[in-house]
Order: sequence, then C-alpha cells, then structure tokens
Amino acid sequence: MRRFDKSGEYKADGALSLVAWLRWKCKLSAGAAAERVEVARQLEKLPKTEAAFASGTLGYQHVAVMARAAEHVGAAAVRKEEAGLLHAAQTLDPGQFTGVAKNFEHRVDAAGALAEANHAYQRRYFHIGEPVDGLVRLDGLLDAERGATLRTALQAFMKPVKDDARSYGQRSADALVELGRQGGSGSKRDGAGPRPQLIIRASLDTLAGTPGAPAGELEGGGTVPAETVQRHACDSAIIRITGQGELDHELNHASRTISASTRRALESRDQHCVFPGCSRPTIWCDGHHLVWWIKGGATALPNLALLCRPHHRMVHEEGWRLVRHKDGRFTTIRPARPVVPSSRSA
Ligand SMILES: [Zn+2]
Ligand SMILES: [Zn+2]
Repeated sequence: MRRFDKSGEYKADGALSLVAWLRWKCKLSAGAAAERVEVARQLEKLPKTEAAFASGTLGYQHVAVMARAAEHVGAAAVRKEEAGLLHAAQTLDPGQFTGVAKNFEHRVDAAGALAEANHAYQRRYFHIGEPVDGLVRLDGLLDAERGATLRTALQAFMKPVKDDARSYGQRSADALVELGRQGGSGSKRDGAGPRPQLIIRASLDTLAGTPGAPAGELEGGGTVPAETVQRHACDSAIIRITGQGELDHELNHASRTISASTRRALESRDQHCVFPGCSRPTIWCDGHHLVWWIKGGATALPNLALLCRPHHRMVHEEGWRLVRHKDGRFTTIRPARPVVPSSRSA
C-alpha cells in the first residue's frame, strides 16, 4: 500500500487518489480505505509496530489504533513509548487497547485530546422520525460522555424479567421509553436530588489539571478530557478517584456537595442559568464553583452560580470565564484562544 501510494500508480486507472482507487477497485468504504492508507503511511515511522505486524504478533485492528495515535500526536511521541504500547496491545483486545491509546494521547497532548472531544461533541445529534408503517426510526450520535450517561440511565430499566422473550435490542428500546416516561412530568426533581449516575475514574492529577495527567475513564468504556472530569466534580457529580488515598477524605468531605438548603438558596437567588442572555430553568442547571473547591473555593452562596449544562460545559471545556461582580451581576470573558474543533479526524 505504501509503495502504491508513493508511486502514484493508481492514477494509471484514472483514480484521483489512493482512497478513491481502493473504494473503486477493492470495494471498500471511504472510512475503511482512508484507515488503510493512514496505517500504511504511519507504519513507516513506527518500525517496532511494523515488525510486530509483519511477524503476526500484532493484529490489524491494534495496528490501526497505533496508527491513529501517531496521526493524532505525531509518530515521534508514539515511538518514545512504542515498546510499552505494543506490550499493552498484545495483552488487550482492540477496544481495551483504544482506551490505553487515548490515555496516552491525553498524556502527551491534552489540548489535542480536548479538541477531539469537542469535535465529537459538535457532531452530536439525535433524530426521531415521523411514524412510517407504524414505526418511528431513531438515530443519532453522542460523544463518549453523553453516551455513557444514557447507557447507565438505560441499564436501570434493562433487566430481563422472568421468562423474558425480548431480544437485547427490544429490552433497550423498552428501557429508553421507560426512561422517558419516568423522567417526564410527574417526577419530582429539585436539582439537589439524585441524578442519573455517571461514573468517571480519574486520578488526582487529572482532577487538578496537572499537565501530562491521564484522561478520565468512563465506566463502561470511553475516555473524557480532564476538563470534563473537572466539570462533573464541580457540582458533586459522582466521581470515583483511584490511587489517591489522601483524596478520599477530600471526596467524602460533605462541604464539596451542595446541600439541599444551599441549593434552594442558590436557586432563589439566581432563578435560572446566570450566563448572560440565558434563562434556562433551575432544573437544567448545575451549581458551578467560581473558585473551584480543589483550589480552596467554598461551597457557599457567594462562590456558587447556577449554570445550565451547555453553559457549564462552555466554562469548563471551552475556556469561557464567568465573573461575579460586587453588585451580583455576572459577566463572562471570552476564551483568548477558543478551544475549537480542530482539523484532526474524529
Ligand atoms: Zn463548574
Ligand atoms: Zn445557560
């Protein structure tokens, strides 16, 4: 493939690119063709990986993960840890190994990992079709964090009953509808009560935003950037920290959680999301710490602000700053360099 790519011989058939040639002559999808071309190009710069692939100790899917990591953070960075990554590749399945590779990418290129997560976030959509022949088609895309939230929420309704003849897909569909039913009108939610549980594993370094820290890991697969971990930790979402005994005390510290009475006071002061121009109601809002609790900010009214989920995300993941003035007004400061979706492939 590499030789064919460099020689440009695909042009002899009239194809405009190697990817186009592969789609045409090898009947590959555009994504599969582009992946193979990228693997061919990156392997040249990853000699240990190429040797392992050639000898059969490494399968194609693992090689593709290595190539993608090299494409994202540069082959030089991958070469530095190539031996360690290859060792992991040989003991893990491709899905697990993708987690290891994403963690590696986050360690060497946190900004890139954040840009990629933001790019994935931009691609989110959900579509419910009009009924056709009695059926409504659903389709959509979610970024890893939202996917994990939905999966966890569905699991509560997924359990098979006795003599359950439903398929897995049917139980999933029923769970989604049940979730909609119970989450809709009639349920009591004051914002301080229990929420859909989302478990993120993260180290203290990730929580503190230390450069080189690993990504947060979602239970059930997938990773999220440090900024997302911090947003969830901001309002007492359920975060389990591993490997940092001294933080257990901090985590169990009652003051981190916004108490029901503080939450009520916050809601009556702010009424809705305080982001200028936003009026999303309190039930859609998190309690944001202006000075974060890990940096000594108090979980007390003067240090808190209601932010709706999208605006809370903009503050943590997209670099916006929220400022509370003496007269109680809130203003925002735009990010100096916006964390925008990059040209990196998703
Ligand atoms: Zn926050
Ligand atoms: Zn808002």
